[in-house]
Amino acid sequence: MTSTLAPWKDWGVTDRVWNFSAGPATLPAHVLETARDQMLSFDGAGMSVLEMSHRSKWFEDIIGEAEANLRELLAIPPDYRVLFMQGGASLQFSMVSMNLLRPSSSPADYVVSGSWAKKAVAEARREGDVRIAWDGSDGGFSTLPDLRELDVSGDAAYLHVTSNETIQGIEFPPGFEPESGPPLICDASSDFLSRPLPVSRYGMLYAGAQKNAGPAGLTVAILHGDLLERIPDGLHTMLDYRTFSENRSLYNTPPAFAIYVLMLVTRWLRVEVGGLDDMHALNLEKSALLYSVIEESDGFYRGHADPAFRSAMNITWRLPSEELEKRFVDGAKAAGLLELKGHRSVGGCRASIYNAMPIEGVRVLRSFMEDFASRG
Ligand code: PMP
Repeated sequence: MTSTLAPWKDWGVTDRVWNFSAGPATLPAHVLETARDQMLSFDGAGMSVLEMSHRSKWFEDIIGEAEANLRELLAIPPDYRVLFMQGGASLQFSMVSMNLLRPSSSPADYVVSGSWAKKAVAEARREGDVRIAWDGSDGGFSTLPDLRELDVSGDAAYLHVTSNETIQGIEFPPGFEPESGPPLICDASSDFLSRPLPVSRYGMLYAGAQKNAGPAGLTVAILHGDLLERIPDGLHTMLDYRTFSENRSLYNTPPAFAIYVLMLVTRWLRVEVGGLDDMHALNLEKSALLYSVIEESDGFYRGHADPAFRSAMNITWRLPSEELEKRFVDGAKAAGLLELKGHRSVGGCRASIYNAMPIEGVRVLRSFMEDFASRG
């Protein structure tokens, strides 16, 4: 992968920062550059994608490439559909349960792994019976279960998991997906495209695009065609997965610019990065740079996550006092390292280092952490 230090310096832009936001998050410089170059005229169209009909040939090519890139990156089998929707991952909490729990005579099992899983449960409860297969709240959501050891009934409507809890910074390890059992439905919002996935072990996975895949306003779902058969009639058109599947996500006006940027991000992953194995290796290298500084700090920094389940995307830690945490976040900001405050519900610090955060940015943060700890 070609990565240059602060590439935007070459653009004559001097006020870009290292942005550790949990989402919307930093995008690959290469993608921003291409979007800028195509802003007034996309590929000879004489207009921007922002201004273009979603029924035009240009947009057909854009959405076609977006899907083809995803299919190639994740080796999506042909019997899975790729859907582009709006409403964020939060709407999926409702749509999953409306489409797949409402018609079921059995409950759905949910793994309550953190703040986002809790929200998914709250919406599903409006639609049917929910069984809590595992609940990590007693441990402050610092660890995760082995899904194969859970008591999940074979005839459950589905098993819902969150592969990466963005707020707590915990992530299921690669290969966590059971080979059998009810359809696995996964909220993969914050680690989508960060590593390869065995798609065939899932019934469905979904992700808001605004972390690893593009801008806010677009949600991607990948679902097995068989699940479409279960959907009850009578759902509102825009809340029924069949509407998106039968119309190639073009039943109504889609979030066209967001799909275009996702197409550029997935092209960058394929062509510049070289695929998800390479992306995963780099993500592990980046996260290890921060976890090792936490571990070597003699307890000055305290990681939140159980080491077996720590996230490669969202690194969460505490300092000895809230006052020091505030000084840390303010000092980092003054050094051009932004958005390191932990989520308001848990406090502490959090660095989100999705695919597009260059390793150079992580190194700058690591040095800042070492310096700050030595000044104590
Ligand atoms: N699930 C996870 C794991 C998330 O991180 C988020 C957003 N941070 C959501 C769901 C909600 O996504 P949205 O804001 O797109 O509704």
